[in-house]
Amino acid sequence: MPVKYKDYYETLGVARNAGDEDIKKAFRKLARQFHPDVAKNKKQAEEKFKEINEAYEVLGDPARRKRYDELGADWNSGADFRPPPGWESARGGFRGWGPGGEDPGFHFEGTGFSDFFEQLFGAARRGGQRAASARRGGFAEGDLGSERGQDLEGDILVTLEEAMRGAVRSVSVRHAVPCQQCGGTGAQARRTCPACGGTGQAAKTDTCQVKIPAGVTEGQRLRIAGRGEAGLGGAAEGDLYLRVRLAKHPEFEVEDHNLIHEANLSPWEAVLGANLAVPTLSGRVNIRIPPGTQNGQRLRLRGRGLPQRAGDPGDLIVVTRIEVPQRISDAERKLWEQLARESRFKPRT
Ligand SMILES: [Zn+2]
Repeated sequence: MPVKYKDYYETLGVARNAGDEDIKKAFRKLARQFHPDVAKNKKQAEEKFKEINEAYEVLGDPARRKRYDELGADWNSGADFRPPPGWESARGGFRGWGPGGEDPGFHFEGTGFSDFFEQLFGAARRGGQRAASARRGGFAEGDLGSERGQDLEGDILVTLEEAMRGAVRSVSVRHAVPCQQCGGTGAQARRTCPACGGTGQAAKTDTCQVKIPAGVTEGQRLRIAGRGEAGLGGAAEGDLYLRVRLAKHPEFEVEDHNLIHEANLSPWEAVLGANLAVPTLSGRVNIRIPPGTQNGQRLRLRGRGLPQRAGDPGDLIVVTRIEVPQRISDAERKLWEQLARESRFKPRT
């Protein structure tokens, strides 16, 4: 099953040589526009939001971006993608394909990541080797002909809103199974099997509902029992493991269970104080910026962060950032000049 090449630069609308700050800005702008909670057409926005997130997962991470760039610009968006020969051994961390570029033979749908992402940056696709030796212990000698099915592992993109409230998602796993018409040989009566076109393979899709509990964290593995590969000789199926990746959010960064939100202030708001409406995962709340607020000051909104499975929810931390106007009118200039003459403030003493 070949995967389609994705042009992440195109997705974010940035040049290939764009700086980190430009990439972050482009992501934020698009993510605000297509965030499923604000967009009018939710279904369409959700797809777009996932695409933007995937692109930013790669281009917003210097190590991943470097690896992606090493693939070269020779690929066109949507083209059938195979990693260049020898790429895996040369790059080390390239997971997902077996030795010699062997196709893993299955893929996921509904996890929020494309197959292309999974091939390049996804979790290790196979949990254990064919023989789940740890489970062998209890079996009698005569059972050697049966083998428990392999575990499958992939990533699942979870928005902060889903992590907050919990969710149920439909996930499909498409397996390659032997073609039933030709028994996997690719031929019928000495001719190419018309059902599989001679590949000997057919696709079988299993769909299951995956419960994402409230309070999931980055990297947490969700186990879906019995949804891995089929067992041999009547043995049990393997399990499906989905590794949580929290979606990047236009307004928040995640630190443990805390959410960090950067709030821009004008110099006079910082000096005089201000009332500010800041976003939370459950709507905007008004906060008071006290007079004399410094750049980088952290204001804590207790319990407005992400929930924890055990213990109190995290906090929302508003980090202030004082922005200075770059262009001012003549009238404004006069006021600043007057301020400069009258102020007794000495920042360097
Ligand atoms: Zn066939």
